[in-house]
Parts: sequence; structure tokens; C-alpha cells
Amino acid sequence: MAKINIKDMLTNYDKKNLTIATVCSHSSLQIFNGARKEGFKTLGIAVGEKKKFYDAFPLGRPDEFMMVDDYKEILDRTEELKEKNVIVIPHGSFVEYLGADKFSTLDLPTFGNRNVLMWESDRNKERIWLEGAGLTMPMEIKDPHDIDMPVIVKYHGAKGGRGFFIAKTYEEFQQRIKKGKSFSIQEFVMGTRYYLHYFYSPINDDAYKLSKGSLQLLSMDRRDETTIDEVQRLGSIQELEELGIHPTFVVTGNIPIVIRESLLPKVFKMGEDVVEKSLKLFGGIIGSFCLETVVTEDLEFKVFEISARIVAGTNPYISGSPYSEFIQPDLSTGRRIAQEIKHAAKESQLEEILT
Ligand code: ATP
Repeated sequence: MAKINIKDMLTNYDKKNLTIATVCSHSSLQIFNGARKEGFKTLGIAVGEKKKFYDAFPLGRPDEFMMVDDYKEILDRTEELKEKNVIVIPHGSFVEYLGADKFSTLDLPTFGNRNVLMWESDRNKERIWLEGAGLTMPMEIKDPHDIDMPVIVKYHGAKGGRGFFIAKTYEEFQQRIKKGKSFSIQEFVMGTRYYLHYFYSPINDDAYKLSKGSLQLLSMDRRDETTIDEVQRLGSIQELEELGIHPTFVVTGNIPIVIRESLLPKVFKMGEDVVEKSLKLFGGIIGSFCLETVVTEDLEFKVFEISARIVAGTNPYISGSPYSEFIQPDLSTGRRIAQEIKHAAKESQLEEILT
């Protein structure tokens, strides 16, 4: 990754007049709404007809738009954005549309630690990080011939579960695998899914304390995935598979959820361990992140993925969640991000939370 010098980037910034910007997709309504609540100006980067749609939501609409023909155009227009003292809030679609390589060198102050990219985008490194932190991940099956339990086959670089499939035997695997694509095979963990939304602040000590800074749990969701989550309306999965109908894992939405309270200490311990390990490996996962988990019948968490920035699963909670209400009323993740930037700007600590 090319070296980003955040100090240089911020030299000419008017820190009392910052603009929060993001790409108009994913969790942008929440990000703009949260920034607005904290008194920031907002800017939305959009392609095509998006602008019209935002008119329907005046409180989630950015104050101004930067229209582009292609998201890659952002790379050529950074000077224009710097003049507006823009701080970029990355979300999953932002990184995807720009491409991880280009995003990592984007010449704009960006919320969070961009060094996390190489640790989350490479499945091997992700495993080193999470297992190194003491978390349990689903077992990996290196050789498809060894499939002797239900497994999920994941294509690399697939987003939102597209193309993933379940196999119970080597034969089933062989029938469904697409040649020429790299993939990994994981034990299909039986249990219930919880997507846990954390916020780590390296500069605030007034939450669950860590060796540096503190951790909050802002909310949790369960993803709604088509067709797996409703396929049983048509018959059992086995019946359907016999007809050649295979369930898919494409995300279409998010459902609010809470976890039994006795599991909360484990939830915090996992978040703590992930952050502490990240501090050692690459300087820390800063701001929002999400652990994607399955809770088994033994009440053990298996973590199958980490998302290192705001996830769309926080969208049901624009006016607070059953957890964030215990921190501050009306606190969304988007608003929490804006608060962190506001606090850091006031205390001359922006370099601690931006890269
Ligand atoms: P994203 O990057 O959007 O998080 P992805 O393409 O990396 O998605 P995953 O999140 O790894 O995909 O998996 C997609 C879905 O597949 C999950 O939301 C979950 O429902 C299911 N899934 C993934 N891994 C497992 C597993 N080991 N056991 C059971 N279900 C799983």
C-alpha cells in the first residue's frame, strides 16, 4: 500500500468546517443523517439518477452531491473534495465500487485504518488475525475429497454471498463447482446467525476499556438472504435439491435482533480480543466493525467473517438500537462515527482515527 501521510493531508484543512462524504449507497442515508445530527455538512458522491431518490428522504439526503460518471472518477477529483475539507466515510459498497487497491491509495482523509484491508480481504490473513485473537472459526476443508459433512463453498471475491453453495458430499461439490474460480470450503455451521456491530475508539475511554481506548456494542442484525431464508416455503431443501433447485445466499435486507443477555460478556470478549490483536498486527481496527457469527446449540460463537467498517446491518437502527439506547438516546452507527470525528477535531486527534 502506498504510504498515506494523513498529517500532510490535513495541513490545509479547516478543522472547524469539515464535510462528511460518502458514496450514495449501502448505509449512506444513515451516515448523512448521523453527520447532520452532529452539525456537519454532508456530501454525497453519486452516479446517474441517484439524486432523485434522495429527495424522498430530506433528513437522509446529503447537503450537496458530486455527480460522477464512474466511481473511479473520485480519484481524479480529490483536490475539489479537499477544498471542501472532506472526510470520507468508507462502507462496503464504497470499497467495492472503487476497488480495494484504489481505495487504499485514495488521496483523501478516510475514517478508520486502511491497513485493515489486507487483513480482511485475504481469507488466510483473516484467519491468522481472528484465530490468533482466540476466536473460533468454522473448520476449513482443504481438499474437496474430504467433504464428509455439510459444507459451504465460497468463491473468492464474491460479495454478498453470491454464488455460494452447500454440498454434503464430494459428488455434490463436483456437480456444482464452477471451474476456473478460486474458492474455499468451510464447515456449514449449524446454529443461529448474529451479526454484531461494534465501535472501537482509540481516543475515548468511557466505554468497555481496552489496553488503549474503549469498545462499544451499538447493535446487531441478522441478514435476510435469498433464497435460503425462505426456500422452505416451497418444500424441504432436500426435496428442492432433487428438483435441481439450490438455495442461494444473496443478501436482500437486514432484520433487527437482540441476543440473550447472558451471552453479552462473550460478545464483548470477542470484540476486545479482535481489537487487541489488530493493534498488534496493523495499528488497530478503528471505528465500526462487524463480527459475523453463528451461535451453536452449545452457545458457542463461530465467527465466519469480519467486516472492518460500517455494515448495512446497522441500517435498522437510525434512531438507536436496544443497545445504543443504553449509551445515548438516538445514537446510530452513522451518528457515532460523526461524534468520533467531531471529538477528534476538537481535541486535535484527527490523526488518531483517520488514514
Ligand atoms: P460479505 O462480504 O457481504 O460479508 P461474503 O460474500 O464474504 O459476504 P459471507 O459473509 O462469508 O459472504 O457468507 C455469506 C452468507 O453465507 C452468510 O451471511 C451466512 O448466511 C452464510 N455462511 C457463511 N459462512 C457460513 C458457515 N461457515 N456456516 C453457515 N453459514 C455460513
